[in-house]
Amino acid sequence: MRKQIYDVYSPSGFHWVGNGFKSNNYDIPQTVIKKLLDPFLMIGLAPPKAFEPTEKQRGVGSHPHAGFETVTLVYEGELAHADSAGNRGVLREGGVQWMTAGRGLMHEEFHSADFSRQGGVLSMSQLWVNLPKSLKKIDPAYQDIEPEAIPSVELSGGLRIRVIAGEYAGLKGPASTHTPIRILDISILADREAVLDIPLDHNTSAIIITGNASILGRSVSAEDIVLFDRGGSTLDISAEEDSRIILLSGLPIEEPIVQYGPFVASSQEDLMSIFKDFESGKMGSLS
Ligand code: MN
Repeated sequence: MRKQIYDVYSPSGFHWVGNGFKSNNYDIPQTVIKKLLDPFLMIGLAPPKAFEPTEKQRGVGSHPHAGFETVTLVYEGELAHADSAGNRGVLREGGVQWMTAGRGLMHEEFHSADFSRQGGVLSMSQLWVNLPKSLKKIDPAYQDIEPEAIPSVELSGGLRIRVIAGEYAGLKGPASTHTPIRILDISILADREAVLDIPLDHNTSAIIITGNASILGRSVSAEDIVLFDRGGSTLDISAEEDSRIILLSGLPIEEPIVQYGPFVASSQEDLMSIFKDFESGKMGSLS
């Protein structure tokens, strides 16, 4: 059965994250996020933006996260991350970083020194993935997924799929996830069509990175986010131009979400305990 589109969201504006990330705003109601995005809490997209060369650090300095995971996908440009668990990494074009905040950590997210010096176009996404209550207190972890580690398959019809997480067409994505999640990076050539299988019990959404396409008969273009209704297990895409689409799906966790900025708990009491850990320095610091 074909899936159905719930709604298509185009950017309503933007906000700066630190001085390095010009990120789109999407007016997706929290009730819709909780129902149709779960286990994802947020989809961020900073579309292509040119930065002049500089010797200064651009980005966002030390800040905390707890109770969920941040997944950073670099489409163009280069980032450098560091956290209080001692992890450091450079995120190259086509690469992905999967950071588990778990019981809490501090981290910083900057343009890489090389990228800053040379200047250039940055384009990236950050997804926030919830952790179930039983796993919210796990130790912080960091998966640095190099672009070469992401398997890719060419399917008929001018369709190329990179499997970042979960499985597709017999390929297994390198990301280790705590709940069933699939992330596909789909490139489809102009005038081609594709029919994709979607796990029936997953919530599904799509980020249009570049191009113009028709998904389930509805026109979408770069920077749109598409949320699908639950149910249905196939989705057809026909590309009007060469298009790149990130297709997200995940088994909903269906637990209460009590969020305050960078902290995500499943009860008010747990949120208070996260604050206490943060204020008492338990999330560490970046040296
Ligand atoms: Mn962060």
